[in-house]
Amino acid sequence: MSNICDHNRCKKSARKAAEHLCKELGVRFTTHRRRVFEIIWQSHKAMSAAQIMQQMDNSQPPITYRALDFLKNAGLIHHVTSLNAYVGCLHTQNPNHIGQLLICTSCYNIVELEPKTAIEKLTFEAKQHGFRPNQTHIEMLGTCKDCLKNERNA
Ligand SMILES: [Zn+2]
Ligand SMILES: [Zn+2]
Ligand SMILES: [Zn+2]
Repeated sequence: MSNICDHNRCKKSARKAAEHLCKELGVRFTTHRRRVFEIIWQSHKAMSAAQIMQQMDNSQPPITYRALDFLKNAGLIHHVTSLNAYVGCLHTQNPNHIGQLLICTSCYNIVELEPKTAIEKLTFEAKQHGFRPNQTHIEMLGTCKDCLKNERNA
């Protein structure tokens, strides 16, 4: 595991949040939605639709895409534009938050900052320019702690 986390706990809390949200929205956490969700939550690394599909045994791609759309719209995952991939979100109590993602371009690990870290300042500045942002998240590309360590040890 590249990130220092108790990942079983991450998964458990993400699953609980998803079940709670579905109940609140009055929608079903169907088998396919759950399956895609579990695949994404195997780690904090971004996964492409193709990788997810592979683990779904390539059965009926539209099902995977529909499940991804559902999870994304519900605020349970983020679509990482610069990688065209998906990652689970831990801040589901606040489904309308703007995700702030630190993306490692070596291992695709993603760290999501706490919802309010920098975005308020950025949104304020954007408004000063008369600019209305319509993005659901911002992305910062770079190299994660672990990859930097490996580089140094190489
Ligand atoms: Zn974790
Ligand atoms: Zn998020
Ligand atoms: Zn990395």
